[in-house]
Amino acid sequence: ELVEIPQVVAEAVDRLRVAAESRDITLETSVDQRASVFGDAELLATAVGNLVSNAMNYSEPGTRVAVAARRVGDTVEITVSDQGQGIPATEQSRIFERFYRVDAARSRATGGTGLGLAIVKHVCATHGGDVAVWSEEGHGSTFTMRLPAASDRTAADSDRPQVGSAQGEQHG
Ligand code: ATP
Ligand code: MG
Repeated sequence: ELVEIPQVVAEAVDRLRVAAESRDITLETSVDQRASVFGDAELLATAVGNLVSNAMNYSEPGTRVAVAARRVGDTVEITVSDQGQGIPATEQSRIFERFYRVDAARSRATGGTGLGLAIVKHVCATHGGDVAVWSEEGHGSTFTMRLPAASDRTAADSDRPQVGSAQGEQHG
């Protein structure tokens, strides 16, 4: 299925709008209309939602969370940035593991299970992409999902039935 990333971002952000307001977090989005991929819209919305929900959970009230999607060559990049507590360098490679949480005592207050990022990683992998983190403790974090873009040609063709097969032309 051809998935329009602007719609995925809108869907994920809409689901978290009320939570953001109740935590006094400003949700900002900036999307490139040309960003589309092949895959599962619901899984992708879940992945983006997990990143946005983390960004809100591990930030203080009054801060901003920014979601951006853009096409970079053959890749669609979706970034979620926050101004929160950040993640120590020594923990950054482990947070994508199932059930892993930084500072269990502090994380327990937010009531999660440690599966959110494992799901994001899995969804990216099944779409042929990956997810990476950049973070500075005390300053915030940026998570980037990188997915193979649906090429303009392939995207346009997927809407139409196949015509003019190569087999027919061999008789010419
Ligand atoms: P769940 O998502 O299952 O409700 P969780 O948020 O603890 O629980 P993950 O989303 O997998 O689990 O995140 C793992 C850990 O990584 C978190 O417990 C937190 O310590 C850290 N983390 C994730 N995102 C951020 C972020 N944006 N800022 C700071 N720490 C983060
Ligand atoms: Mg989470």
